[in-house]
Amino acid sequence: MSSRNVLFATLLASILSGAALIAFASHGAAQRRPSPAPIPNDAPARPENGTACNYQEPIDYLVRENFVVKWRQPAEEQAVRRARHEQAIRWRTENYGYFEGFGQSSWNRSTPSDNAVRARFMGLPIRINEKIVPALACVEEQIRAECGETYRPGRLSGLRTSNTYHNGEVSNHVYGIAVDVDPTLNTCCMCVAQWGDHPLCQREVESIYERMAMPSCWVHVFERFGFYWLGRDALQDTMHFEFLGDPDHILKSQGPPPARTAEGTPAAATP
Ligand SMILES: [Zn+2]
Repeated sequence: MSSRNVLFATLLASILSGAALIAFASHGAAQRRPSPAPIPNDAPARPENGTACNYQEPIDYLVRENFVVKWRQPAEEQAVRRARHEQAIRWRTENYGYFEGFGQSSWNRSTPSDNAVRARFMGLPIRINEKIVPALACVEEQIRAECGETYRPGRLSGLRTSNTYHNGEVSNHVYGIAVDVDPTLNTCCMCVAQWGDHPLCQREVESIYERMAMPSCWVHVFERFGFYWLGRDALQDTMHFEFLGDPDHILKSQGPPPARTAEGTPAAATP
């Protein structure tokens, strides 16, 4: 082989091995990407409510799946969702505090840190917004009554002082209204690549409950008291509950939460 041909052969070989490397990498990534787990519609009938709290539903426009904008959505739908997202940021700011970079400081002079308290949930310390403390207490009371003692969490995560989303969204952790239960045992398979590699995420399952340590009974109890379980979201974040109910109507003594229109504003009282 002439020196020119050697050079050519070396070049060709390096291109081919580069191509092989790319093919291997993309094949590896395809193997690792977990498929979303089915989410059973298995909430049992709600028992008679003996707690001090109202049963309540999450407010629609606060639910992530209802405001996240996806590129394939038509422009009109994207506009509706952007408006909902703004509405959700305003609600969270007004009720829980102003977090820099989201909404306006004129909506609330206090910050989420100002409004956070040290509380306990299932025997563990957690820092959360003072307003949701009673809701968490009712959840605990019902978990203890209904779910047995088989699962005892080892760690909780509540208020965060920095935002963990990078797409213009703001996490409910910064408002102190989100609770992660055992963040290393209850998976978030569709969140980030590191989670996708987790054995529970790699396994094909019949139900999302097979990808977490927490019993489904906990999910059903949380959901009755205005908490949204992010396991239902595209992220499949099974550790995460966020209070999306009305914080001024957590307790029965505050009266039931107002009926709301489809867009989430309180329905006008009939004269
Ligand atoms: Zn979380």
